[in-house]
Amino acid sequence: MSKIQELPTVLTNQITAGEVIERPASVVKELVENAIDAHSTEIDINVEEAGLKRIQIIDDGDGIPDGDAEMAFKRHATSKIATPDDLLRVHSLGFRGEALPSIASISDTVLTTSTGDSGTLIHITGGDLVAHKPAQARRGTSVTVKDLFFNVPARKKYLKSASTELARITDIVNREALSHPEISFSFTHNGRELLHTTGRGDLLQVISAIYGVQTAKKMVAVTGQNEVATLSGFVSLPEVTRASRGYISVLLNGRFVRNQQLNKAIIAGYGSKLMVGRYPIGILNLEMDPALVDVNVHPTKQEVRISQEPELSKLLTSSIFDRLATENLIPDALAGF
Ligand code: ADP
Ligand code: MG
Repeated sequence: MSKIQELPTVLTNQITAGEVIERPASVVKELVENAIDAHSTEIDINVEEAGLKRIQIIDDGDGIPDGDAEMAFKRHATSKIATPDDLLRVHSLGFRGEALPSIASISDTVLTTSTGDSGTLIHITGGDLVAHKPAQARRGTSVTVKDLFFNVPARKKYLKSASTELARITDIVNREALSHPEISFSFTHNGRELLHTTGRGDLLQVISAIYGVQTAKKMVAVTGQNEVATLSGFVSLPEVTRASRGYISVLLNGRFVRNQQLNKAIIAGYGSKLMVGRYPIGILNLEMDPALVDVNVHPTKQEVRISQEPELSKLLTSSIFDRLATENLIPDALAGF
């Protein structure tokens, strides 16, 4: 027998899971993004014991046809891209076809889905198909993930305290809600509701639900445009700050991205108005030609390469700077909110 052998699927899925699913919050992110890609208008996120006991995401989106349901759990199987050209212009949040097979290989996963008529249930434990049968389901998809990392003891040990893991989940849910004010999000932990957004498309309402109405009153709208991108969003007035950069969210074509340069550009828009060690709250949407953004840099897709980063930075800094300059003249602009 040859010394070199192809690994069995269960094992390759577990290896991929190591990259894509770092912690419970990664499961929430992947499943919520699948729900968003499926054109959902309502997404319910129910988590128990910081996600280690149970994570359930229910959406009212497109659903998966019965004939495709098992395929959804195959690695690199996706409905979102089909050709090399598509990879250059990704419009969806997902495209790698890695989340469901990864999650199902390291947990007990049940997916119930319906495109509107008959429903399907798929049950997979540790990567093994336990059941595929017809099920009662309304249009949409529900995924329940229990016992995450039950077969990856090393990963389980590496997790932080329940409160830290819950904070990471909350952070993901907040950012997804901020990215999609047109979707109604409901988030519960151990049965207690932590966030509810109306889905009416009002970003300031989402900001208010997450950061509180007092903070929302101190946020100002920012818009801008240059040859590369269009900018819209809200930033806090200089008097409303936090001790970390973690309250700055940048969305590139609807995808939340982590990018030091863009964060710096936002802070630079405040000039000398911020106290040392204090950072603003901001949610900034940049829309640009997807061909200028390489989203295929990292499995979690939060790091992206942008070919025109300096232009984006300039747009952010100047738009925020100009907006805050006018704010000094009309301090009561938001008094009616
Ligand atoms: P990707 O999102 O990268 O395509 P996933 O493993 O996350 O890969 O999902 C595989 C496929 O399963 C998706 O391409 C999609 O067709 C289908 N799918 C997953 N979740 C949902 C959902 N909530 N609603 C509808 N279809 C879904
Ligand atoms: Mg996905």
